[in-house]
Amino acid sequence: MSALVWFRSDLRGVWHSPLTYAVANHQTVTAVFFITPQQWQHYGLAPIKLDLLVRRLLQLKQELADKGVCLNIMQVADFAAIPEKLKAICTEQRITHLYLNAEYELDERRRDQKVKALLAEQGIVTGIFHDTCMVRPDQQLNKEGKPYKVFTPYFNQWLAHLRNDLPHSQPWQAVQLTLSLPEALLDSDNSIQRYMQNADEMGWPAASSALDEKIDDFLTDAVSRYAQSRDFPAQHGSSGLSPYLSIGAVAPRQLAHSMLIRFGEAMLDGSGGAHVWLRELAWRDFYRYVMFHFPHLCMHRCFIEKYDAFNWCDDRNLFDAWCQGQTGYPIVDAAMRCLNATGWMHNRLRMIVASFLCKHLLLPWRWGEEYFMSRLIDGDFASNNGGWQWSASVGTDAAPYFRIFNPTTQGQRYDPDGEFLLQWLPELKTVPKKHLHEPQKWQAASSLNYPPPIVEHKQAVSSTKERFGQFLDMH
Ligand code: FAD
Repeated sequence: MSALVWFRSDLRGVWHSPLTYAVANHQTVTAVFFITPQQWQHYGLAPIKLDLLVRRLLQLKQELADKGVCLNIMQVADFAAIPEKLKAICTEQRITHLYLNAEYELDERRRDQKVKALLAEQGIVTGIFHDTCMVRPDQQLNKEGKPYKVFTPYFNQWLAHLRNDLPHSQPWQAVQLTLSLPEALLDSDNSIQRYMQNADEMGWPAASSALDEKIDDFLTDAVSRYAQSRDFPAQHGSSGLSPYLSIGAVAPRQLAHSMLIRFGEAMLDGSGGAHVWLRELAWRDFYRYVMFHFPHLCMHRCFIEKYDAFNWCDDRNLFDAWCQGQTGYPIVDAAMRCLNATGWMHNRLRMIVASFLCKHLLLPWRWGEEYFMSRLIDGDFASNNGGWQWSASVGTDAAPYFRIFNPTTQGQRYDPDGEFLLQWLPELKTVPKKHLHEPQKWQAASSLNYPPPIVEHKQAVSSTKERFGQFLDMH
């Protein structure tokens, strides 16, 4: 009995239930990953994310080979081509079982249903595992038997699930007999080289050993300060693990296990850094959970469906200014320039720039969602969609529409000395500290090569409240 393990957004060789199960139960095991250029293009994935993905894939191929499993990297156009390709592989190689980790996005679920049905016609069993989240999304319902729509009660039940099913390590079981696909079925591995963008290998390493070190460093040191420092972009107080979670180079339960070793079950309670961090990981699960139970989220729809009819503005010039970091609001501009230059943005800044786009410029949150996806190294449909819908007040557990961040006071609070800001806005280096977040108030502002505010804060806030208020009166 031969097994095929299909890798997707779970690019790791440990904490990987399909692989562990296949190796434990089959004499021959092989693995496959499909490069899907048209699908990636359709999703608008950022080149920097694809670069990380491909570098990780090559590392994984090596790591699996060292342990006796051959990872075959194949190219097809998009998801539609995968069922037939898998059928061909399974027939040719007499595969009896396909193993994979569930993905909860709608296109992915439809793809997997087609694969399962097609292979079942051939008598091939598809085994689906659930390593993507810390707690499976289909395991949690409220007292009425309905999915949660609000985070806090979801989180309380999520913690109870985790407490009952704490992660234990999955030791690697060596496999002796492996199978390699014939050349005829393989596209050259060289085809993946074109996705490599010469990204910062040091900043975003792809080898497992480097990731283990990154996790270790964070949990040994920074996590204890996480609750205090996580909101300050200049302090680098968060883990920087989201790019790895998004491609599955790291498993959420692997992180919970590492925390358990260090902090014991205390991490499940209290206000310490480990617990606060665990709560953030629960947000990642929550957005996947909501997407799983409310698939209209995957169709460019708002969670609160009436907002699909909301009349956003469509001024492309305002949007371009936001994208390029030319709004005249320093914290917004520094954040956007950082994103454009590095593919990364701190969580607090994501909230500030998203609020600014939706509530100051009244532009469609979908524009921002798409732009983020095209730039972020950690672009992840569920978290990005969830973050944008939250910011636009159209999502689950969303901020009420009248809660509008003041970008100036946010900047003053979270980057008081302008340390982050000046990294990206060198043109403001002559501005006295007290005016850094509103340089237009400095008497010599006209000498600066920096735009005045693109909209006036109070006026923008009042138009937004009025627009939302009128909309709600009518719906
Ligand atoms: P840490 O603070 O170390 O948190 C640990 C992990 O918890 C993160 O790696 C992430 O997986 C998860 N997490 C933390 N905060 C959130 C959150 N608010 N929502 C969901 N998961 C969270 N995150 C993405 O991974 N991909 C995205 O495309 C994405 N887009 C976003 C868009 C907007 C508008 C907003 C407001 C947030 C978005 N986030 C996204 C969530 C969050 O900003 C990032 O996960 C976080 O900044 C990653 O940094 P970190 O790994 O250092 O996080």
